[in-house]
Amino acid sequence: MGEPNETEAILLAIDRVADRLEAEKSHLTDLDSAIGDADHGTNLARGFRAAADAVAADSDLPADELVKKIGVTLISKVGGASGPLYGGSIMSASQELEDGLTTETSIAFAEAYLDKVTDRGGAQVGAKTMVDVLTPAVHTYKKSIESDDLPPLTAFAKAVDAAERGVRFTVPLRAKKGRASFLGWRSVGHQDPGATSTWFIMQELLAVADEYLEGDIDVDARSPTIPDETPDEVGDA
Ligand code: ADP
Ligand code: MG
Repeated sequence: MGEPNETEAILLAIDRVADRLEAEKSHLTDLDSAIGDADHGTNLARGFRAAADAVAADSDLPADELVKKIGVTLISKVGGASGPLYGGSIMSASQELEDGLTTETSIAFAEAYLDKVTDRGGAQVGAKTMVDVLTPAVHTYKKSIESDDLPPLTAFAKAVDAAERGVRFTVPLRAKKGRASFLGWRSVGHQDPGATSTWFIMQELLAVADEYLEGDIDVDARSPTIPDETPDEVGDA
């Protein structure tokens, strides 16, 4: 059995993510119809709703098992390229949550997730995929905590900002991986669907983290800042 608060936060997070992806379904599918096969929104909305239902029905599990179950459900319900990437990477990274959900384990989870996505998909930064969002987001999160001593919530808000810049970064790129790569140069000028869904998911996780950590996110932390700049008015660690 997980810590009650932790279990609640995970259940709420997956539920919010499922709702958000449902709300963004046609947006994501439109993005995927420009450079793919128009299934990203429906794939993800279906898969994350199934994952939310699966963990809600098994809420006695500890944090790592809950998250693993989310991954396993995504693998079986999402399909396409993004099913194994999202599901397999969440499943594998869930091992990092064996000691529950703490600042340290959240960094380990984020790094393991990024590693798995890049291992499985073989995409580097610049290939116009979700890796273009994950890489700066994970590095920003880790650096903000470990080098800049920022509170985890502020670090997460900065990571979400980095994710947003990653989404914009995908627009002018030529796709080198996945279906969009079949289009070659014609993929240029379009925003990557998987990068976009990754950013949406992070926004929902941040909102839930904010509620559970009861911190007030410094508004300035949400606006783009130079990574090394440490605002002194940031809240208590
Ligand atoms: P499919 O392309 O099989 O229809 P989806 O439409 O669900 O799958 O997902 C497409 C998204 O998956 C892309 O926008 C991209 O971000 C991501 N993606 C595809 N291939 C890779 C890869 N090799 N590495 C990382 N991400 C990838
Ligand atoms: Mg697709």
